[in-house]
Amino acid sequence: AKDAGKNCLVVFEAQMRQQLLESIELENQLAQAIANDQLTLHYQPIYELSGKRVIGCEALVRWIHPKLGFISPADFIPIAEKSSLILELGQWVYQTACQQLQRWDLDAQLPNLNMSINMSPKQFDDESFFTMVPQLLRRLSLDPARISLELTETAILEHTERNQKLLATIKQSGMRIYLDDFGTGYSSIAHLATTPIDAIKIDKTFVDKACIYERDNRLLVSILAMAKHLELDVVAEGIETPDQLNLLISNGCALGQGYLLARPMPADEFADLVRSQG
Ligand code: C2E
Ligand code: CA
Ligand code: CA
Ligand code: CA
Repeated sequence: AKDAGKNCLVVFEAQMRQQLLESIELENQLAQAIANDQLTLHYQPIYELSGKRVIGCEALVRWIHPKLGFISPADFIPIAEKSSLILELGQWVYQTACQQLQRWDLDAQLPNLNMSINMSPKQFDDESFFTMVPQLLRRLSLDPARISLELTETAILEHTERNQKLLATIKQSGMRIYLDDFGTGYSSIAHLATTPIDAIKIDKTFVDKACIYERDNRLLVSILAMAKHLELDVVAEGIETPDQLNLLISNGCALGQGYLLARPMPADEFADLVRSQG
């Protein structure tokens, strides 16, 4: 009975938290968080799988709220996307990640790393993003080919002339385009032929199922073969077990990330990890 009472409290707290998360108040707080340095980026190492070497990372945004503590991007990105806050947030993430990459470049013990940056489909509304991006790369003397923008199908699916033009702008700038969460949306295959993407990121749900169900296993193997024919790079995400890792390696998946290899971590820890691999 005591435990039941405790569970009720936990449920109640979870509901309160959820309500607070959904409230307009949080939207205001997020605006302040961007201005007041409450946001930070963590970096998840991306490995060349067969040699188990870090070749770069994915920048993942974190919000440490003074009262609520850690808030997951899965919770606050959708809030930001309901307003123009996502544009500010997107610019902040981009600038912070590129400045970090330049700092690592100045460290003689670190090799040239690649940086993957998530981009919300809403950011296609932001003309200033597309002018800021190449300017910043020039100012920081970063080779654009080391930057990948991770876009979901939603952005690419909106086959408007405008989106196509902006995708072409990204390509012309020399940056790379990754199709994120591959396999979770619709008509991915058609878009592989018609959009200028460089790589697909295989979503964690695929990686999970491939080691459980025979048909999912075959599906993953087929996707890897297809990517190879189309000369697309592949990054697998959410690798948690040695079985998953082995399956991916033996079917030609070159790159990947996941808790088995490393979790997202602060910049300094990431630099230490890369230094330690010599
Ligand atoms: P995503 O782009 O699919 O990023 C991968 C997510 O999977 C990250 O969650 C990462 O921490 C988590 N992950 C990586 N390896 C494993 C694993 O082995 N096991 C499990 N269970 N999880 C793993 P995170 O950091 O909570 O981000 C969630 C989502 O929020 C991201 O999904 C992305 O869609 C969005 N997001 C994060 N940062 C940004 C950002 O700067 N801008 C935008 N627009 N969206 C972002
Ligand atoms: Ca991503
Ligand atoms: Ca994903
Ligand atoms: Ca995503």
